[in-house]
Amino acid sequence: MNALVYHGPGQKAWETVPDPTILEPTDAIVKIDTSTICGSDLHILKGDVPETKPGTILGHEAVGTVVKIGKAVTTIAVGDRVLISCITSCGRCRFCKEAKYGLCSGGGGWIFGHTIDGLQAELARVPFADTSVYPVPDGLTDEQVLFVSDILPTAYEVGVLNGGVEPGDTVAVVGAGPIGLAAIMTAQLHTPGQIIAIDLADARLEKAREFGADVTINNGREDAIAIVMGLTGGLGADVAIEAVGVPDTFELCTALIRPGGRVANVGVHGKCATLHLETLWTRDVTITTGLVDTNTTPKLLKLIESGRLDPSPFATHHFALADTVEAYDVFGAAAETGALKVVLEAHPVGHDDRGATVAPTYAPELVGSR
Ligand code: NAD
Ligand code: ZN
Repeated sequence: MNALVYHGPGQKAWETVPDPTILEPTDAIVKIDTSTICGSDLHILKGDVPETKPGTILGHEAVGTVVKIGKAVTTIAVGDRVLISCITSCGRCRFCKEAKYGLCSGGGGWIFGHTIDGLQAELARVPFADTSVYPVPDGLTDEQVLFVSDILPTAYEVGVLNGGVEPGDTVAVVGAGPIGLAAIMTAQLHTPGQIIAIDLADARLEKAREFGADVTINNGREDAIAIVMGLTGGLGADVAIEAVGVPDTFELCTALIRPGGRVANVGVHGKCATLHLETLWTRDVTITTGLVDTNTTPKLLKLIESGRLDPSPFATHHFALADTVEAYDVFGAAAETGALKVVLEAHPVGHDDRGATVAPTYAPELVGSR
């Protein structure tokens, strides 16, 4: 098969590699129909994630078709269309039993395209298949559910739920990339009073308005704290969601929160941020952190099925899976290309951006189920 292989900082290639095989009885082999690229993949390519070894296939978000299952897999069958979650769950450890799959200590957690081969590939081995994939509801396209692999549950769980968004709340979302925009989208499930989006890029703020922000602030040229105070009677936001991952934006969140408010950090931080306890110690502020657990995946799928949530506007560009390298160029230059999420399709359905019809490069026979 072919796959996108990481070859060390700055190096990647779409190349032929051996087909994955069942290694454990709880594994499944899934033919990838639709995949995408995440900001974390760019972090790996920059060399920020040393535990990802050269030779690893990247990617942790996909929809596919089961082509083979191990002997212990009982809840999915060959031919099933499944959403593969970015988080794998062993289903047995203390954390999985508490639905904290992101903390899985039994061999799961964020492993795809990180510590094991990932999903930007024609085929993938999915460990703990019973507890780590979700059937795609009938009638939904791959693109409608693809972003439930990662950005939707991340923004909803680590941002909106950890932040305890309640009806009427003023929610400030700092960073309007895919994660911040998904927080803006899913915060609306809780009927906030107003959503304020803060970013340095006007193009991202325009997207934020399309995704449901009521007010946008460009903190490169506007005083975000003063504007938020002005909008909240001098108190500050009820909830601040940090969706960037740099010290400035974390500190901004702790400065624009009201007494008794909640700061939900989603951003991945590479540097130390200052916690200003000298001003915060009397303010009853709650600060949460977390890796996504993806325990809201079934709920998000139900909301999409019922038409109450539509993540398809995240799909700004389409490519054939075989053109994944080109897709990285477009995704990596988001400031120029306006890319939010790129959709990589094994069988392009005729709406790829260049109008090209690309033949599938891999068309497996369904293999025997056990
Ligand atoms: P992104 O880089 O696409 O978007 C970040 C946005 O922040 C951009 O629009 C950028 O213009 C804006 N920005 C940068 N500096 C800023 C500043 N000083 N003030 C205001 N805005 C600023 O990233 P993304 O894919 O949306 O992800 C956001 C963060 O969430 C990243 O740190 C990512 O690694 C993290 N993340 C966390 C989890 C988790 O489980 N906790 C999962 C996935 C992603
Ligand atoms: Zn576990």
